[in-house]
Amino acid sequence: MTDAGITIIGAGVVGLAIAECLSEKYSSVFLIEKERTFGQETSSRNSEVIHAGLYYPEGSLKARLCVEGKMLLYQFCEKWQLPYNNCGKLIVATSEEEISVIESIIRTASKNGVNDLRIFEKNEIAELEPDIFALSAVFSPSTGIIDSHSLMKQFETNFINNCGNTAYRSEVKLIKKVKDGYEITVAEPDGNHYTFTSEVVINSAGLFSDKIAGMAGISDHNLKINFCKGEYFRLKPPKNRLIKRLIYPVPFHNMEGIGIHVTIDMGGGVKLGPDVTWLKENVQDYSVDASKQESFFKSVRKYLPFIELDDIAPEMAGIRPKIQKPGDPQMDFYIREESSRGLPGFVNLIGIESPGLTSCIAIGRFVYGLLEGAGYRMNK
Ligand SMILES: Cc1cc2nc3c(=O)[nH]c(=O)nc-3n(C[C@H](O)[C@H](O)[C@H](O)COP(=O)(O)OP(=O)(O)OC[C@H]3O[C@@H](n4cnc5c(N)ncnc54)[C@H](O)[C@@H]3O)c2cc1C
Repeated sequence: MTDAGITIIGAGVVGLAIAECLSEKYSSVFLIEKERTFGQETSSRNSEVIHAGLYYPEGSLKARLCVEGKMLLYQFCEKWQLPYNNCGKLIVATSEEEISVIESIIRTASKNGVNDLRIFEKNEIAELEPDIFALSAVFSPSTGIIDSHSLMKQFETNFINNCGNTAYRSEVKLIKKVKDGYEITVAEPDGNHYTFTSEVVINSAGLFSDKIAGMAGISDHNLKINFCKGEYFRLKPPKNRLIKRLIYPVPFHNMEGIGIHVTIDMGGGVKLGPDVTWLKENVQDYSVDASKQESFFKSVRKYLPFIELDDIAPEMAGIRPKIQKPGDPQMDFYIREESSRGLPGFVNLIGIESPGLTSCIAIGRFVYGLLEGAGYRMNK
C-alpha cells in the first residue's frame, strides 16, 4: 500500500487541470510544486490566447486536444464565471505571396475539424479593425483570450474542494521505482527532505519535465527539453485602444513560433510578440532585450501602419519547453503512460508548449483515459 494514490508534479495550468480532473474521479491525489504557489513559470508567461487549432498537423495531439480543449475551456469559463473574451482573430496577408498561404491555413484547419474560418476582403477587415492594413485576412471566430490566473485559481479551488492535497515549496529531487509504485523524495526550502510513496506519478513539470523523467530512469535524447524564449513588447496607450481583436501575420513555415503577433488581454493591454530566441544553456532567462525594439516595430508595422517606434516598450518574456531542436519541424506533445518503458503508472507530459493553455482541460481528460486504459481503478 502506497502513501499516495496519485502524485502530480508541477502546478502549472496543465498540472492543475489534471489535478482537478483526477480528483473528481480518484481519492488520494497530491499536487507537488517547487514554487510558493501555482503558475509561477510558463503558465503565467504566455499570450493567454484560446487557440482555435488552425495550424497543427492533422491527427496530432496538439490538433486534437486544442480543438477539444477550446470548447471545454469556454464551457468551464461560463460555468465558473471566469473572465474570457471570445473576440476572434484575424490572420492578415499583406502581400500577394501571403494571400496564397491563407488557402493552406484554411485547408489545414479544416482537416483539424475547424470549419468556421472565413476569408475577409479589405472592406470587411476595415469594418472590424479600421486601423490595420491587410489585403486579405482569415477570420477565426472561435479564437479568444482568457485570464489564465483566474483559470488556475479555479482549478486549485475545485481540486481542494474535491479533497485534493497541495504541497507548495516542495521540489521533487529523486524518484525511485518500488514494488507498488514510486518512492518520491522532496526538498523543502529549509533544506529538509522527506520521502513518500505513490502508486501513480504524473510528470507535468514543464521546463523541467525531462529532468523528472530522467529521475525515473528515462534517458531519451528525443525527450530533451530545449528552452526557446519568446519576448514581448507592449503597445502603449492610447494606441492600444485601436486594436479590438487578435491580429496575426501569416505564419512561418517551420512553426518555431507563429510570427510576431498582436494580442489583447483581459485588462485592455496590447502585446506584440512573442519572438523566437533559442537559449543555448537551459537557463530561466526572462529578460527582455530592449535593443529588439526596432525589429519588433518593423515586423508589425506592415499591418499596423499607425505605429511609431516609440509606441512600444519592453514587456515580458516566457520560455517554450520544446522537444524540437532549432530548425527542426514542429514536434507534437509527448503524453504517455510509460508501462512500455517498465514504468507502469508513470505518465510523462513533455514538450507541452502552445497550445498547452488552450488544451489543458482536454489534457486532463486524456491523462484520465491513459490511467483507465492502463487499468488504474482507484475510484472514489
Ligand atoms: C511565450 C509563450 C506564449 C504562449 N502562448 C500561449 C497561448 O496563447 N495559448 C496557449 O494555449 N498556450 C500558450 N503557451 C503555452 C502554455 O503557456 C503552456 O503550454 C502551459 O503554460 C504549460 O503549462 P504546464 O503546467 O505544462 O507548465 P508550467 O506552467 O511550466 O508548470 C510546470 C510547473 O512544474 C513545476 N516544477 C518543475 N520542476 C519541479 C520539481 N522538480 N518539483 C516540483 N515542481 C516542479 C514548476 O515550478 C512549474 O510551476 C505559450 C507559451 C509561451 C512560452
